[in-house]
Amino acid sequence: MKTIIEPFRIKSVEPIKMNTRIERESVLKKAHHNLFLMNACDVIIDLLTDSGTGAMSSEQWAGIMRGDESYAGSISFQRFEKTIQNIMGFKNVIPTHQGRAAERILFSVMCKNGDVIPSNTHFDTTRANIEIQGAIAKDLVIKEGLDPQSKHPFKGNMDIDRLISTIENVGVDKIPLIMVTITNNSGGGQPVSLENIREISKIARKYKIPFYIDACRFAENAYFIKLREDEFKNSSIEFIVTEIFKCADGCTMSAKKDGIANIGGFLCTNDNEMAQKQKDLLILSEGFPTYGGLAGRDLEAIAIGLREAMDENYLEYRIISTQYLGEKISEAGVPIVQPPGGHAIYIDAKAMLPQIPPHEYPGQALICELYLESGIRSVEIGTVMFGSTDKETGKEILAPMELVRLAIPRRTYTQSHIDYVVESIINVYHRKNEITGLKMTYQAEHLRHFTAHFIENN
Ligand SMILES: *Cc1c(COP(=O)(O)O)cnc(C)c1O
Repeated sequence: MKTIIEPFRIKSVEPIKMNTRIERESVLKKAHHNLFLMNACDVIIDLLTDSGTGAMSSEQWAGIMRGDESYAGSISFQRFEKTIQNIMGFKNVIPTHQGRAAERILFSVMCKNGDVIPSNTHFDTTRANIEIQGAIAKDLVIKEGLDPQSKHPFKGNMDIDRLISTIENVGVDKIPLIMVTITNNSGGGQPVSLENIREISKIARKYKIPFYIDACRFAENAYFIKLREDEFKNSSIEFIVTEIFKCADGCTMSAKKDGIANIGGFLCTNDNEMAQKQKDLLILSEGFPTYGGLAGRDLEAIAIGLREAMDENYLEYRIISTQYLGEKISEAGVPIVQPPGGHAIYIDAKAMLPQIPPHEYPGQALICELYLESGIRSVEIGTVMFGSTDKETGKEILAPMELVRLAIPRRTYTQSHIDYVVESIINVYHRKNEITGLKMTYQAEHLRHFTAHFIENN
């Protein structure tokens, strides 16, 4: 069969409230042209993020009922710990309320002022948790990873030569760990090859530097390895996942991604001494080491979700559905970051809307237009998110790219929802010349994209 279907049927539904263009115009105005400031019930298809927005399975809901809420030593923790030890192979498993809590604990214990942490590309919470320790987050992705049009199969790979020269220049003493993010979220959700992970591991072992994986999308990454790395075309996802984690000394994880849970995360390490320090810190801020800020029921949902995320039929549907969206709009002429990543499609708003200069936020203008067209919520990843206003001159400091991200929640939307997204993007594309820029009228000092206000600039 050529048709690939959603490998699940729907037992429980959540109604979508439909609305009209007139209603959306008023919603957008009230939200000051910032899609973070509108109510979710005014959104028809929500592609803001794939984090915590997945649909749980009937097994996960059954796990929720089984959750053991004992403060210490719950059976749910034992299941959680054992599942992660089996999948990833690490000795110590520490639950946290989200991925960023795992990061904070890891870097608090391992980093000091002036240290350097190399990665392919650090995710923004990872970078922030490194920088707050006074350390430097260094991105060493291969050059193809920075070229939106390159179709390299593993654009998330780390540049091995630059890794070696960084270690030689900075000195081993100042590198407490090496990280790699799979898939590379901030680099367009692009995968990292097992060959590259093995090379990083070899260098880490040679220099005796611990190697940690930011594992948020480990299952999607493993599926890309199976598709694109010849050596693994006949391997099971479980085997590939084992091979990936065998290379590392530990990991951080947000269970809101490939844990297919609505909340949760964890930190793993093979180093018992480090684990003790991490648990001491966990007790201070997250909770006792057998729940770490989560309910027992969350631990159950995560343990089940991690296994479901590795199901090959699920992964095939997931990757193909994302690719389908990317290919359909790209065939119609919409410029996107190539090739489609695992969890999201990125539209190049600068290329699509050349009439809007970057300081008038082409990405923000495009997400507003898409919302007006069909009630889709996407997110700007450009100057609104990563730029800033120079305090002295009032000029905008621009981001390197002006992108719009369409992130696909796991198991939440069907093929016809995706067709609806395709049609509305193409409609907007056909009248792209009429779209005008925006002016920012309010911004906060930090993370301005969450609360900024805009007006139309015409
Ligand atoms: C989401 C994410 C994180 C942070 O996880 P949270 O659960 O949101 O705190 C870290 N790294 C990557 C690659 C992510 O995608």
